[in-house]
Amino acid sequence: MTTLHRTVFRGGQVFDGTGVPPARADVVVEGDRIIDVGRELDGDDAVELDGKTLLPGLFDCHVHLTFSGDLDTLAGMMRPFSLRYFEAIGNMSATLRTGVTSVREASGADLGVKTAVERGLVRGPRMQISIAMLSQTGGHGDHQAPSGGCFTWEHAYPGNPGAVVDGPDAIRRRTRELIREGADVIKVATSGGVLSPRDDPRHGHFRDDELAVLVAEATAAGRPVMAHAQATEGIKAAVRNGVRSIEHGIFLDDEAISMMLERGTWLVPTLSAPQAVIAAAEGGMRLPDPVVRKAHEVVDVHLESFARAVRAGVKIAMGTDSGVGPHGRNLEELSLMVAHSLMSPIDAWVATTTSAAALCGVDQQLGRIAPDYLADLTVIEGDLLDLDGLRTRVCGVWKGGVSQI
Ligand SMILES: [Zn+2]
Repeated sequence: MTTLHRTVFRGGQVFDGTGVPPARADVVVEGDRIIDVGRELDGDDAVELDGKTLLPGLFDCHVHLTFSGDLDTLAGMMRPFSLRYFEAIGNMSATLRTGVTSVREASGADLGVKTAVERGLVRGPRMQISIAMLSQTGGHGDHQAPSGGCFTWEHAYPGNPGAVVDGPDAIRRRTRELIREGADVIKVATSGGVLSPRDDPRHGHFRDDELAVLVAEATAAGRPVMAHAQATEGIKAAVRNGVRSIEHGIFLDDEAISMMLERGTWLVPTLSAPQAVIAAAEGGMRLPDPVVRKAHEVVDVHLESFARAVRAGVKIAMGTDSGVGPHGRNLEELSLMVAHSLMSPIDAWVATTTSAAALCGVDQQLGRIAPDYLADLTVIEGDLLDLDGLRTRVCGVWKGGVSQI
Protein backbone atom coordinates (compact mmCIF):
# COMPACT_ATOMS: atom_id res chain seq x y z
CA MET A 1 0.00 0.00 0.00
CA THR A 2 1.38 3.42 -0.94
CA THR A 3 0.82 6.29 1.43
CA LEU A 4 -0.08 9.66 -0.02
CA HIS A 5 2.07 12.73 0.41
CA ARG A 6 1.30 14.58 3.62
CA THR A 7 1.64 18.31 4.04
CA VAL A 8 1.50 19.94 7.47
CA PHE A 9 0.35 23.55 7.81
CA ARG A 10 2.01 24.61 11.03
CA GLY A 11 2.69 27.46 13.39
CA GLY A 12 -0.36 29.57 12.56
CA GLN A 13 -3.69 30.42 14.08
CA VAL A 14 -6.49 28.18 12.83
CA PHE A 15 -10.08 29.32 12.37
CA ASP A 16 -12.07 26.14 11.85
CA GLY A 17 -15.19 27.86 10.49
CA THR A 18 -17.50 27.00 13.38
CA GLY A 19 -17.35 30.30 15.23
CA VAL A 20 -14.84 29.16 17.84
CA PRO A 21 -12.17 31.89 18.07
CA PRO A 22 -8.93 31.11 16.21
CA ALA A 23 -6.40 29.05 18.13
CA ARG A 24 -2.90 27.78 17.53
CA ALA A 25 -2.97 24.40 15.74
CA ASP A 26 -1.36 22.33 12.98
CA VAL A 27 -3.35 20.86 10.10
CA VAL A 28 -2.30 17.83 8.07
CA VAL A 29 -3.49 17.40 4.48
CA GLU A 30 -3.18 14.11 2.58
CA GLY A 31 -4.28 14.13 -1.05
CA ASP A 32 -7.40 16.28 -1.29
CA ARG A 33 -8.46 15.85 2.35
CA ILE A 34 -7.69 17.18 5.78
CA ILE A 35 -6.70 14.17 7.90
CA ASP A 36 -5.64 15.67 11.21
CA VAL A 37 -5.87 18.84 13.28
CA GLY A 38 -3.85 19.15 16.47
CA ARG A 39 -0.55 20.08 18.09
CA GLU A 40 3.00 19.22 16.98
CA LEU A 41 1.91 17.31 13.88
CA ASP A 42 4.29 16.07 11.18
CA GLY A 43 4.19 15.74 7.40
CA ASP A 44 6.42 15.02 4.40
CA ASP A 45 6.65 18.75 3.87
CA ALA A 46 5.51 21.81 5.74
CA VAL A 47 3.87 25.17 5.08
CA GLU A 48 5.03 27.57 7.79
CA LEU A 49 2.30 29.91 9.02
CA ASP A 50 3.92 32.06 11.73
CA GLY A 51 1.97 35.31 12.03
CA LYS A 52 -0.74 34.01 9.74
CA THR A 53 -4.25 32.59 10.05
CA LEU A 54 -5.47 29.45 8.31
CA LEU A 55 -9.15 29.37 7.35
CA PRO A 56 -11.41 27.03 5.44
CA GLY A 57 -11.59 27.87 1.73
CA LEU A 58 -14.04 30.78 1.56
CA PHE A 59 -17.46 30.92 -0.11
CA ASP A 60 -19.16 33.65 -2.07
CA CYS A 61 -22.81 32.69 -2.49
CA HIS A 62 -23.62 35.26 -5.19
CA VAL A 63 -21.25 35.93 -8.06
CA HIS A 64 -21.52 36.40 -11.82
CA LEU A 65 -18.29 35.02 -13.24
CA THR A 66 -19.07 35.95 -16.84
CA PHE A 67 -19.83 39.59 -15.97
CA SER A 68 -16.78 41.77 -15.53
CA GLY A 69 -17.94 44.94 -13.80
CA ASP A 70 -18.30 46.85 -17.04
CA LEU A 71 -21.80 48.29 -16.76
CA ASP A 72 -21.35 50.78 -19.62
CA THR A 73 -24.45 50.31 -21.76
CA LEU A 74 -22.88 51.15 -25.11
CA ALA A 75 -19.77 49.06 -24.40
CA GLY A 76 -22.06 46.20 -23.46
CA MET A 77 -23.89 46.43 -26.76
CA MET A 78 -20.58 46.31 -28.66
CA ARG A 79 -19.02 43.42 -26.73
CA PRO A 80 -18.70 40.22 -28.79
CA PHE A 81 -21.01 37.54 -27.40
CA SER A 82 -18.37 34.95 -26.52
CA LEU A 83 -15.85 37.40 -25.03
CA ARG A 84 -17.50 36.88 -21.62
CA TYR A 85 -16.16 33.33 -21.41
CA PHE A 86 -12.59 34.47 -21.91
CA GLU A 87 -13.07 37.30 -19.41
CA ALA A 88 -14.41 34.68 -16.98
CA ILE A 89 -10.96 33.07 -16.90
CA GLY A 90 -9.48 36.18 -15.30
CA ASN A 91 -12.51 36.64 -13.08
CA MET A 92 -12.24 33.10 -11.75
CA SER A 93 -8.55 33.43 -11.00
CA ALA A 94 -9.16 36.77 -9.23
CA THR A 95 -11.82 34.98 -7.15
CA LEU A 96 -9.39 32.23 -6.19
CA ARG A 97 -6.59 34.68 -5.43
CA THR A 98 -8.78 36.35 -2.81
CA GLY A 99 -9.29 33.02 -1.05
CA VAL A 100 -12.74 32.16 -2.42
CA THR A 101 -12.70 28.49 -3.42
CA SER A 102 -16.48 27.91 -3.75
CA VAL A 103 -19.16 30.07 -5.35
CA ARG A 104 -22.82 30.01 -6.15
CA GLU A 105 -23.07 31.40 -9.65
CA ALA A 106 -26.12 33.66 -9.75
CA SER A 107 -26.54 33.58 -13.57
CA GLY A 108 -24.20 33.87 -16.51
CA ALA A 109 -21.95 30.82 -16.22
CA ASP A 110 -23.21 27.70 -17.95
CA LEU A 111 -22.19 24.06 -17.83
CA GLY A 112 -19.25 24.72 -20.15
CA VAL A 113 -17.69 27.15 -17.67
CA LYS A 114 -18.16 24.73 -14.79
CA THR A 115 -16.82 21.81 -16.82
CA ALA A 116 -13.75 23.76 -17.96
CA VAL A 117 -12.81 24.26 -14.29
CA GLU A 118 -13.58 20.68 -13.31
CA ARG A 119 -11.41 19.38 -16.14
CA GLY A 120 -8.57 21.70 -15.20
CA LEU A 121 -8.59 23.61 -18.52
CA VAL A 122 -8.78 26.81 -16.48
CA ARG A 123 -8.47 27.57 -12.80
CA GLY A 124 -11.56 28.51 -10.92
CA PRO A 125 -13.56 27.97 -7.76
CA ARG A 126 -15.94 25.08 -7.20
CA MET A 127 -19.28 26.31 -8.44
CA GLN A 128 -22.97 25.71 -8.30
CA ILE A 129 -24.49 27.20 -11.43
CA SER A 130 -27.94 28.66 -12.06
CA ILE A 131 -27.27 29.49 -15.76
CA ALA A 132 -30.12 32.01 -16.17
CA MET A 133 -32.27 34.04 -13.78
CA LEU A 134 -35.92 33.42 -14.56
CA SER A 135 -37.68 36.71 -14.95
CA GLN A 136 -41.13 37.86 -15.98
CA THR A 137 -41.59 40.03 -19.05
CA GLY A 138 -40.48 43.51 -18.04
CA GLY A 139 -38.66 42.05 -15.04
CA HIS A 140 -35.09 42.13 -13.79
CA GLY A 141 -33.82 39.76 -16.48
CA ASP A 142 -35.64 41.52 -19.35
CA HIS A 143 -33.26 44.10 -20.73
CA GLN A 144 -35.11 45.07 -23.86
CA ALA A 145 -34.35 48.77 -24.30
CA PRO A 146 -36.83 51.46 -25.32
CA SER A 147 -35.17 51.37 -28.75
CA GLY A 148 -36.08 47.68 -29.09
CA GLY A 149 -32.40 46.78 -28.74
CA CYS A 150 -31.66 43.91 -26.44
CA PHE A 151 -28.73 42.73 -24.37
CA THR A 152 -27.57 39.23 -25.02
CA TRP A 153 -27.60 37.84 -21.50
CA GLU A 154 -31.26 36.93 -21.60
CA HIS A 155 -30.98 35.25 -24.99
CA ALA A 156 -31.39 31.54 -25.34
CA TYR A 157 -28.53 29.52 -26.80
CA PRO A 158 -27.46 25.89 -26.48
CA GLY A 159 -26.88 25.40 -22.76
CA ASN A 160 -29.04 28.36 -21.73
CA PRO A 161 -32.80 28.24 -22.33
CA GLY A 162 -33.20 31.99 -21.67
CA ALA A 163 -34.35 34.16 -18.79
CA VAL A 164 -37.73 35.70 -19.65
CA VAL A 165 -40.76 33.50 -19.06
CA ASP A 166 -44.41 34.02 -18.05
CA GLY A 167 -47.12 31.80 -16.66
CA PRO A 168 -47.04 28.54 -14.71
CA ASP A 169 -46.84 26.22 -17.73
CA ALA A 170 -43.97 28.09 -19.33
CA ILE A 171 -42.18 28.31 -15.98
CA ARG A 172 -42.58 24.57 -15.43
CA ARG A 173 -41.00 23.85 -18.80
CA ARG A 174 -38.20 26.43 -18.41
CA THR A 175 -37.27 25.10 -14.98
CA ARG A 176 -37.02 21.60 -16.44
CA GLU A 177 -34.90 22.96 -19.28
CA LEU A 178 -32.52 24.62 -16.81
CA ILE A 179 -32.20 21.35 -14.92
CA ARG A 180 -31.55 19.54 -18.22
CA GLU A 181 -28.79 22.04 -19.00
CA GLY A 182 -27.07 21.37 -15.68
CA ALA A 183 -28.38 23.99 -13.27
CA ASP A 184 -27.45 23.12 -9.68
CA VAL A 185 -29.72 25.82 -8.29
CA ILE A 186 -32.69 27.62 -9.86
CA LYS A 187 -32.62 31.41 -9.73
CA VAL A 188 -35.70 33.56 -10.05
CA ALA A 189 -36.26 37.31 -9.85
CA THR A 190 -39.28 37.90 -7.61
CA SER A 191 -38.88 41.65 -7.82
CA GLY A 192 -37.46 44.38 -9.98
CA GLY A 193 -33.88 45.48 -9.47
CA VAL A 194 -31.32 48.22 -9.80
CA LEU A 195 -29.53 47.30 -13.03
CA SER A 196 -32.71 46.75 -15.02
CA PRO A 197 -33.64 50.28 -16.13
CA ARG A 198 -37.31 49.65 -16.84
CA ASP A 199 -38.54 48.05 -13.61
CA ASP A 200 -38.89 49.05 -9.97
CA PRO A 201 -37.12 47.26 -7.09
CA ARG A 202 -40.23 47.97 -4.97
CA HIS A 203 -42.50 45.83 -7.18
CA GLY A 204 -42.98 42.12 -6.63
CA HIS A 205 -42.60 39.97 -9.76
CA PHE A 206 -44.28 36.67 -10.60
CA ARG A 207 -47.48 35.60 -8.88
CA ASP A 208 -47.86 32.79 -6.35
CA ASP A 209 -49.15 30.29 -8.94
CA GLU A 210 -45.97 30.82 -10.98
CA LEU A 211 -43.60 30.64 -8.01
CA ALA A 212 -45.31 27.55 -6.58
CA VAL A 213 -44.75 25.68 -9.85
CA LEU A 214 -41.13 26.81 -10.06
CA VAL A 215 -40.32 25.69 -6.52
CA ALA A 216 -42.19 22.40 -6.97
CA GLU A 217 -40.25 21.56 -10.15
CA ALA A 218 -36.91 22.53 -8.63
CA THR A 219 -37.67 20.57 -5.46
CA ALA A 220 -38.70 17.48 -7.43
CA ALA A 221 -35.25 17.54 -9.04
CA GLY A 222 -33.45 18.16 -5.74
CA ARG A 223 -32.54 21.73 -6.65
CA PRO A 224 -32.87 24.63 -4.23
CA VAL A 225 -34.18 28.01 -5.39
CA MET A 226 -32.46 31.36 -4.89
CA ALA A 227 -34.55 34.51 -5.36
CA HIS A 228 -33.34 37.90 -6.44
CA ALA A 229 -35.80 39.64 -4.10
CA GLN A 230 -35.63 43.32 -3.26
CA ALA A 231 -39.30 44.40 -2.95
CA THR A 232 -41.04 43.57 0.32
CA GLU A 233 -43.80 41.73 -1.57
CA GLY A 234 -41.27 39.90 -3.74
CA ILE A 235 -39.41 38.73 -0.64
CA LYS A 236 -42.61 37.51 1.03
CA ALA A 237 -43.83 35.71 -2.09
CA ALA A 238 -40.46 33.97 -2.40
CA VAL A 239 -40.43 32.90 1.25
CA ARG A 240 -44.09 31.88 1.20
CA ASN A 241 -43.44 29.63 -1.78
CA GLY A 242 -40.40 27.95 -0.26
CA VAL A 243 -37.27 29.45 -1.82
CA ARG A 244 -34.08 28.63 0.05
CA SER A 245 -32.43 32.04 -0.05
CA ILE A 246 -33.34 35.68 -0.47
CA GLU A 247 -30.70 37.52 -2.46
CA HIS A 248 -30.22 41.25 -1.67
CA GLY A 249 -33.33 41.53 0.59
CA ILE A 250 -33.37 45.30 0.29
CA PHE A 251 -36.88 46.15 1.51
CA LEU A 252 -37.27 43.73 4.43
CA ASP A 253 -40.04 44.54 6.88
CA ASP A 254 -40.77 42.88 10.23
CA GLU A 255 -43.26 40.46 8.71
CA ALA A 256 -40.78 39.38 6.02
CA ILE A 257 -38.13 38.82 8.69
CA SER A 258 -40.44 36.74 10.85
CA MET A 259 -41.49 34.68 7.81
CA MET A 260 -37.80 34.02 7.07
CA LEU A 261 -37.19 32.98 10.67
CA GLU A 262 -40.20 30.69 10.64
CA ARG A 263 -39.22 29.00 7.35
CA GLY A 264 -35.45 28.99 7.95
CA THR A 265 -34.91 31.07 4.81
CA TRP A 266 -31.37 32.33 4.24
CA LEU A 267 -30.39 35.92 3.44
CA VAL A 268 -27.49 36.60 1.07
CA PRO A 269 -27.14 40.35 1.54
CA THR A 270 -24.74 41.45 -1.27
CA LEU A 271 -24.18 44.83 0.42
CA SER A 272 -21.39 45.40 -2.12
CA ALA A 273 -23.80 45.52 -5.06
CA PRO A 274 -25.38 49.00 -4.85
CA GLN A 275 -21.98 50.40 -3.86
CA ALA A 276 -20.46 48.89 -7.01
CA VAL A 277 -23.09 50.55 -9.21
CA ILE A 278 -22.55 53.93 -7.54
CA ALA A 279 -18.77 53.57 -7.85
CA ALA A 280 -19.12 52.69 -11.55
CA ALA A 281 -21.24 55.78 -12.20
CA GLU A 282 -18.86 57.99 -10.24
CA GLY A 283 -15.97 56.47 -12.20
CA GLY A 284 -17.51 57.74 -15.41
CA MET A 285 -19.24 54.64 -16.77
CA ARG A 286 -22.25 55.51 -18.90
CA LEU A 287 -25.22 53.93 -17.13
CA PRO A 288 -28.90 54.54 -17.80
CA ASP A 289 -30.15 57.34 -15.49
CA PRO A 290 -32.76 55.13 -13.74
CA VAL A 291 -30.03 52.65 -12.77
CA VAL A 292 -27.93 55.30 -11.04
CA ARG A 293 -30.99 56.82 -9.38
CA LYS A 294 -32.15 53.43 -8.07
CA ALA A 295 -28.70 52.54 -6.71
CA HIS A 296 -28.72 55.74 -4.65
CA GLU A 297 -32.30 55.13 -3.51
CA VAL A 298 -31.67 51.63 -2.18
CA VAL A 299 -28.19 51.86 -0.69
CA ASP A 300 -29.20 53.06 2.81
CA VAL A 301 -32.42 51.09 3.18
CA HIS A 302 -30.48 47.97 2.15
CA LEU A 303 -28.02 48.47 5.03
CA GLU A 304 -30.88 49.10 7.48
CA SER A 305 -32.72 45.96 6.37
CA PHE A 306 -29.55 43.91 6.76
CA ALA A 307 -28.96 45.25 10.27
CA ARG A 308 -32.54 44.35 11.25
CA ALA A 309 -32.17 40.85 9.83
CA VAL A 310 -28.94 40.27 11.77
CA ARG A 311 -30.54 41.56 14.97
CA ALA A 312 -33.49 39.22 14.50
CA GLY A 313 -31.24 36.20 13.94
CA VAL A 314 -31.95 35.52 10.24
CA LYS A 315 -29.45 33.02 8.79
CA ILE A 316 -26.85 34.94 6.78
CA ALA A 317 -24.49 33.64 4.10
CA MET A 318 -21.92 35.88 2.47
CA GLY A 319 -22.45 36.95 -1.14
CA THR A 320 -21.24 39.94 -3.08
CA ASP A 321 -22.76 40.13 -6.58
CA SER A 322 -19.17 40.32 -7.90
CA GLY A 323 -19.41 40.84 -11.62
CA VAL A 324 -21.61 43.89 -11.04
CA GLY A 325 -18.35 45.29 -9.64
CA PRO A 326 -14.87 43.88 -10.31
CA HIS A 327 -14.01 40.35 -9.18
CA GLY A 328 -11.42 39.79 -6.47
CA ARG A 329 -12.79 42.32 -3.99
CA ASN A 330 -15.16 39.79 -2.48
CA LEU A 331 -13.82 40.11 1.06
CA GLU A 332 -14.77 43.78 1.26
CA GLU A 333 -18.28 42.46 1.89
CA LEU A 334 -17.18 41.30 5.36
CA SER A 335 -16.21 44.82 6.37
CA LEU A 336 -19.56 46.13 5.12
CA MET A 337 -21.47 43.47 7.04
CA VAL A 338 -19.64 44.25 10.28
CA ALA A 339 -19.69 48.04 9.86
CA HIS A 340 -23.44 48.21 9.29
CA SER A 341 -24.84 45.75 11.81
CA LEU A 342 -24.16 44.09 15.13
CA MET A 343 -22.41 41.24 13.32
CA SER A 344 -19.00 40.44 14.80
CA PRO A 345 -15.97 39.74 12.61
CA ILE A 346 -16.11 36.08 13.69
CA ASP A 347 -19.77 35.88 12.63
CA ALA A 348 -18.85 37.43 9.27
CA TRP A 349 -16.27 34.67 8.77
CA VAL A 350 -18.83 32.04 9.77
CA ALA A 351 -21.18 33.50 7.14
CA THR A 352 -18.33 33.05 4.64
CA THR A 353 -17.48 29.47 5.66
CA THR A 354 -19.76 27.05 7.55
CA SER A 355 -22.98 29.01 7.04
CA ALA A 356 -22.34 29.47 3.33
CA ALA A 357 -21.54 25.77 2.99
CA ALA A 358 -24.80 24.95 4.78
CA LEU A 359 -26.78 27.19 2.41
CA CYS A 360 -25.15 25.39 -0.52
CA GLY A 361 -25.82 21.97 1.02
CA VAL A 362 -22.13 21.01 1.08
CA ASP A 363 -21.41 21.47 4.78
CA GLN A 364 -20.43 17.83 5.24
CA GLN A 365 -17.49 18.36 2.84
CA LEU A 366 -16.57 22.04 2.82
CA GLY A 367 -16.53 25.17 4.95
CA ARG A 368 -14.67 23.72 7.93
CA ILE A 369 -11.21 22.72 8.95
CA ALA A 370 -11.73 19.26 10.42
CA PRO A 371 -10.63 15.71 9.61
CA ASP A 372 -12.28 14.23 6.49
CA TYR A 373 -13.19 17.64 5.07
CA LEU A 374 -11.88 18.60 1.64
CA ALA A 375 -8.59 20.48 1.87
CA ASP A 376 -9.85 23.85 0.65
CA LEU A 377 -7.77 26.29 2.68
CA THR A 378 -7.08 30.02 2.70
CA VAL A 379 -4.22 31.77 4.50
CA ILE A 380 -4.34 35.42 5.51
CA GLU A 381 -1.61 37.56 6.99
CA GLY A 382 -2.30 38.66 10.54
CA ASP A 383 -5.35 38.53 12.72
CA LEU A 384 -8.75 37.33 11.56
CA LEU A 385 -10.55 39.92 13.69
CA ASP A 386 -8.90 42.68 11.69
CA LEU A 387 -10.90 43.03 8.47
CA ASP A 388 -8.91 45.96 7.03
CA GLY A 389 -7.20 45.44 3.71
CA LEU A 390 -8.06 41.75 3.51
CA ARG A 391 -7.63 41.78 -0.26
CA THR A 392 -3.89 42.32 0.05
CA ARG A 393 -3.50 39.93 2.99
CA VAL A 394 -4.49 36.66 1.30
CA CYS A 395 -1.21 34.80 0.89
CA GLY A 396 -2.15 31.19 0.24
CA VAL A 397 -5.09 29.34 -1.30
CA TRP A 398 -5.52 25.57 -1.71
CA LYS A 399 -8.42 23.80 -3.41
CA GLY A 400 -8.61 20.06 -2.81
CA GLY A 401 -5.07 20.16 -1.46
CA VAL A 402 -3.67 21.87 -4.59
CA SER A 403 -2.16 25.34 -4.33
CA GLN A 404 -4.05 27.88 -6.46
CA ILE A 405 -1.82 30.96 -6.32
ZN1 LIG B 1 -26.64 39.17 -8.96
